[in-house]
Amino acid sequence: STVPRIVILGAGYGGVLTALRLQKELNYNEANVTLVNKHDYHYITTHLHMPAAGTDDPENARVNISKLIDEFKIDFVKSTVVQIKPVEKKVILEDGTLSYDYLVIGLGGEAETFGIPGLQQHAMNIRSINSVRLIREHIEYQFAKFKREPERRDYLTFVIGGAGFTGIEFIGELADRIPKLCKQFDVDPGLVKIVNIEAAPTALPGFDPELVDYAVQVLTNKGVTFKIGTAIKECKPEGVVLATGETIPAATVVWTGGIRGNRLVEQAGFEAMRGRVKVDPYLRTAQYENVFIVGDCSLLFNDEGKPFPPTAQIAMQQGVNCAFNLVASIRNQPLREFKFDNKGVVASLGKGEAVGIVFGKKLKGGFAAFMKKLIDMRYLYIIGGIGLVLRKGKL
Ligand code: FAD
Ligand code: NAD
Repeated sequence: STVPRIVILGAGYGGVLTALRLQKELNYNEANVTLVNKHDYHYITTHLHMPAAGTDDPENARVNISKLIDEFKIDFVKSTVVQIKPVEKKVILEDGTLSYDYLVIGLGGEAETFGIPGLQQHAMNIRSINSVRLIREHIEYQFAKFKREPERRDYLTFVIGGAGFTGIEFIGELADRIPKLCKQFDVDPGLVKIVNIEAAPTALPGFDPELVDYAVQVLTNKGVTFKIGTAIKECKPEGVVLATGETIPAATVVWTGGIRGNRLVEQAGFEAMRGRVKVDPYLRTAQYENVFIVGDCSLLFNDEGKPFPPTAQIAMQQGVNCAFNLVASIRNQPLREFKFDNKGVVASLGKGEAVGIVFGKKLKGGFAAFMKKLIDMRYLYIIGGIGLVLRKGKL
C-alpha cells in the first residue's frame, strides 16, 4: 500500500506520548503506526526510586501498554531493537525487521559510568522495573545475611554514588525503609549506614542553594551521611574507592552518577554526545529528515546554549510536538518548532517531604510532597485517564 509507515521505538515518556497523539490526530488509513518496546508494559520511571527502596510495589510503577494504546489504531510489537539502519530505513529487531517511512527514536537513557572501573560490574542502577526489583531484593538479602555473619558491617552499608535528583530521591525512600527492615530482621538501626557520595562541591549541583540545604538537612536528620566534593574512583565487589584513596566497605552500591542516551543511536551512525543526538527545532536529526528523536536520546539546547537536562517533562512535550510534525509531514503541511514549557521540578525526600520550584515558586516540606503527588497523578491522567489514576495513583 502507499500508506506511510511510522515506526516508534520505545514506549517511554516520549514514545507513549507520540503514539497517543498520533492515535488521536491521524485519520483512518492515513498512516500505519507501529510501536516497539522490549516489554509489554510502560514503566513510570519517575516512581522507580520507591520500588527500588521497597517503599512501594513495583507493580505500581508499570502499566500494560495494551491498556494505554488503541490496538485497532496502533500495532504494538513486543521486541528488542538491536540495530537501526537509517540509510536503508530499516530497524532490526531480535526477531525480525521493520521498514519505515518515518522513524521516532524514544529508547531512553542508560547509566553513564564514565569508564570508572568496576561500576558496570558491581553497582546497581535505578533504570527499569527489572533493575529496581534487583535492588530491592538485594537490600533485603543483606539484612538476612547480616544475621548469620554479624561481624560483616559492610552488609549494612549502603553506598549511593551521585547526589543528583535520582540519588537524592532514592536515599529519601531508603532512609524511610531502613527502620522497617531493622524491625523485621531484628537489627540495631545504629549499625546501618547510608552514604551518599557526590563529586561536585554540593549535592544537587545547579539547583537552588536554599532548597539544597533543606534537602540535605532533612536527609541528614533521617540518618544519611553525605560525602560531598568526593568522587568515586573505583567500584569493587567489597566496596567503593574514593578519589582521596579512602575505601568504604559496602555490599550494596547503587550508582546514580548520571545517564547517557541509548547506545543504539551511536551505533546507527548518528552524531551523538554521550548517546544523545542533536535534533533540529522540529526534533529531526540533521542527517535524516524522516528520523525524529524524543526524550533522553535527544539533545536540545536552551536560549543560553546549554543542553536541556533529560527529563520526563521534556520527553512528554517532545512526544506531543513530534506527533504534530509527523502528521504535518504526511499532509505536506508546515512543521511546528518545539518550544519547552518548563513547569519546574519537584524532588521527593521520602514520605511527606520534598523540595521543588513550581512556576518559579520555591516549595519545601509537606506542601512540596503534595505537589509531587499531584504531578504524578497528572501524568497518569494524561496517559491513561481517570481509570489509571484510580488504579495506580496514591495520595
Ligand atoms: P524512557 O522513559 O527511559 O523509556 C525508554 C523505553 O524504551 C523503555 O520502555 C524501554 O524499555 C525501551 N527500550 C530501551 N531499549 C530498548 C530496545 N533496545 N528495544 C526496545 N525497547 C527498548 N523526570 C522528570 O521530569 N520528573 C521527575 O520527577 C523524574 N523523576 C525521575 C526519577 C527517577 C528515579 C529516574 C531514574 C528518572 C526520573 N526522571 C524524572 C527522568 C525521566 O524518567 C527520564 O528523563 C524519562 O524517563 C525519559 O523518557 P524517554 O521517553 O526518553 O525514555
Ligand atoms: P545527574 O546527572 O543529574 O546527577 C548525577 C550526579 O552524580 C551529579 O551530581 C554528579 O556530579 C555526580 N557524579 C558523577 N560522577 C561521580 C563520581 N565519580 N563520584 C561521585 N559523584 C559523581 O543524574 P540523575 O540524578 O540520574 O538525573 C538524570 C536526569 O533525570 C536529570 O535530568 C534529572 O533532572 C532527572 N530527574 C529528575 C527528577 C525529578 O524531577 N524529581 C528525579 C530524578 C531524575
